[in-house]
Amino acid sequence: MDISFILNELGEERENYFNAIAPPIIQTSNFKFNTVNDFRNALADEFQGNLYSRGFNPTIDILRKKLAALDGAEDALVFGSGIAAITIPVLALLRAGDEVVCVENPYSWTIKLFQDFLPKFGIKTTFVNGSQVQEIENAISPKTRLIFLESPNTFSFDVQDLSAIAKIAKAKNIITMIDNSYCSPLYQQPIAYGIDLVAQSATKYLAGHSDVLAGVVTGDRKLIKQIFEKEYMNIGASLAPQNAWLLLRGLRTLPIRLEKITANANKVIEYLEQHEKVESVLYPFSKNSKQLDLAKKQMKACGGLLSIILKEASLQKIETFCNSLKHILMAVSWGGYESLIIPACAGIRITDFDLQQQRHTLIRIYVGLEEPEYLIKDLEQALERI
Ligand SMILES: *Cc1c(COP(=O)(O)O)cnc(C)c1O
Repeated sequence: MDISFILNELGEERENYFNAIAPPIIQTSNFKFNTVNDFRNALADEFQGNLYSRGFNPTIDILRKKLAALDGAEDALVFGSGIAAITIPVLALLRAGDEVVCVENPYSWTIKLFQDFLPKFGIKTTFVNGSQVQEIENAISPKTRLIFLESPNTFSFDVQDLSAIAKIAKAKNIITMIDNSYCSPLYQQPIAYGIDLVAQSATKYLAGHSDVLAGVVTGDRKLIKQIFEKEYMNIGASLAPQNAWLLLRGLRTLPIRLEKITANANKVIEYLEQHEKVESVLYPFSKNSKQLDLAKKQMKACGGLLSIILKEASLQKIETFCNSLKHILMAVSWGGYESLIIPACAGIRITDFDLQQQRHTLIRIYVGLEEPEYLIKDLEQALERI
């Protein structure tokens, strides 16, 4: 489907709302029925239509159609946050005694889901280095029901071979799910590689303005319906119509934002790579990346997230550098208009900090929509301080 059609027209039945160009926010919790029979039919199968906005709502519906089409999927569910779009489908797919194979060091709350939350229900997870397909294969047991991927990872940018892993999983009847937040559907299409479920934090690129929390999962209709009917409705982490509308608005400019962000990131990387105080820059398409061929095979581009390691890094150097930035803001999240920085050491207790572990010394930078020269000037003056 044409991306312009998806973003500008798909799901928008303007004749239903006075031919308004922008869709309405249907700010309602519930919908009325004219006969008991209609009411009974709706209650019997809530997946079919509008009954109560914890399930579906017309503004949400437009968004679901667009997000499913962007991923090349049959259907989509949207959630009140990205982590709900991971947790709820995972809970729907698993039962006590099942096992999961998950890539090591995914998004922090994904780790907590598999490490702390699921064991309460008798579900065990094995974390493996996903860059080796063999390690994933070796971790599979007869009880494995799910393989969870995050490619690229959003801190270290490790990449997994999506089609090879999907093939192994299909042969063993194991469901594959990926967190595709890094690439967005514009830069990576996991379903085309055989992945079953694609989750994203829509808070990031899709919404794009640092003003809304949302999540999405896409896949075939049977799986989506299974997730909807029990865990989605029971846990109730639904997206509010107002936030669905903000997402629809954000989506209009997704291609142009990503294009500019990617171009900006490339200029910033070029600057950082030649800087004498920078040891290395981590980015999936970096010419130094060990996984460059695989990344280029399955991704169109990379976007604005990268990490750097300072030369002769120390806690003090990392802190001085980050504290000195004036325009690049220190904050969590990414995917909005503003450039951000987050040193890994901010998430580690000082007594646990280990200079020998590369993961501890990473400084993640998100390049936003500012002009690259403006960002480089800020980086320059902060690097001068160390
Ligand atoms: C932010 C993020 C999430 C969680 O999304 P929320 O919208 O914050 O709940 C999940 N995965 C990745 C890779 C993220 O960056």
